[in-house]
Amino acid sequence: MSTKFVQLGTPDWPRHEIPESGPMTDGFGRRIEYLRISVTDKCNLRCVYCMPEEGLPWLRKEELLTYEEIVQIVREMAPLGLRRLRITGGEPLVRRDLASLVRMLRSIDGIDDIALSTNAVLLDGVAEELREAGVDRLNVSLDSLIPERIDSIARRPGSAEKIFAGLDAAQCAGFTPIKINCVVMRGRNDDEVETFANISRERPWHVRFIEVMPTGDNLQVQSEEFVSAEELIERISRIGKLKPVAGPKGNGPARYFAFDGAPGTIGVITPMSHNYCDRCNRMRLTADGQLRPCLFGSIQTPLREPLRRGEAIEPLVRETLRIKPERHWLTHGSDQGSGGLLALSQVGG
Ligand code: SAM
Ligand code: SF4
Repeated sequence: MSTKFVQLGTPDWPRHEIPESGPMTDGFGRRIEYLRISVTDKCNLRCVYCMPEEGLPWLRKEELLTYEEIVQIVREMAPLGLRRLRITGGEPLVRRDLASLVRMLRSIDGIDDIALSTNAVLLDGVAEELREAGVDRLNVSLDSLIPERIDSIARRPGSAEKIFAGLDAAQCAGFTPIKINCVVMRGRNDDEVETFANISRERPWHVRFIEVMPTGDNLQVQSEEFVSAEELIERISRIGKLKPVAGPKGNGPARYFAFDGAPGTIGVITPMSHNYCDRCNRMRLTADGQLRPCLFGSIQTPLREPLRRGEAIEPLVRETLRIKPERHWLTHGSDQGSGGLLALSQVGG
């Protein structure tokens, strides 16, 4: 079978030696057991650091993987050592009946953890169903605790009220602990960092601060409002002694800290100032069926058409492992290392 790669601007990418059978391992000896699955590129918000206010050229319905196709891919990857899944987007809850996908994924042998990343706007009303369907853990994006600010960062009036209702519904449905993701921007929400950190003293929540990453649409925000994780840790240390801790299950690229006796933790995700690529254990599946070995960069392997032709995808998965890069090449204020992405929502952030 011939293997075709979409290489948006990075020709002749090096291929590395990998084990030809057994658990998925890349050319740098990293075991891959985690797949982030984007179920849609669409979103009901327009966060200033993520996508343009007018939206993006959305995928057409026939370009999206069906739920059955997603399940088929996971079913073929599970025997190769895939264990953990995260459903993301765009906003995954804008796709109809997400719980039915979760139920199908849950029934696959070998998959022992399913997480969901959401902005929580549509969570109230479906939280319990998602929990029953088999979502183990939730990450909720929350960039402010002030309603008017939430609405202005999300550029959708009325979002805050729904997000808070969604968070309540998640707690009632038994999603504890909840991870909160907060993208910190100078002058927009960085004055709330200490307040966010203090939540971890009161609730068993894991509050994670994310450095803004550059994509085609956000270069101004990224270069002018960037706040480094080092600065955040230094500031939070002034309101209480922080000790490094192991962090919750599925802690991925974050480094975690906690105040003495606090039920929750504080995490920092430092794609820009601290490269975590050496611990990378993941690949991504985009809503239109591209298998991406790295969040950023131009390399991806189209699985949708081979799948629709009834071909096995294991050879394509192994080929993607062979070209998984050692690290990403992002730099401040430039979208060069992003591989032409306009927004993380296009690949499932
Ligand atoms: N819509 C869902 C949400 O917001 O949680 C899932 C998709 S969103 C792309 C996943 C995560 O990526 C969110 O936590 C969001 O804050 C983060 N994100 C999006 N664009 C980003 C950027 N340019 N830099 C850093 N984080 C970003
Ligand atoms: Fe939508 Fe999530 Fe991007 Fe915000 S970060 S615009 S909620 S996909």
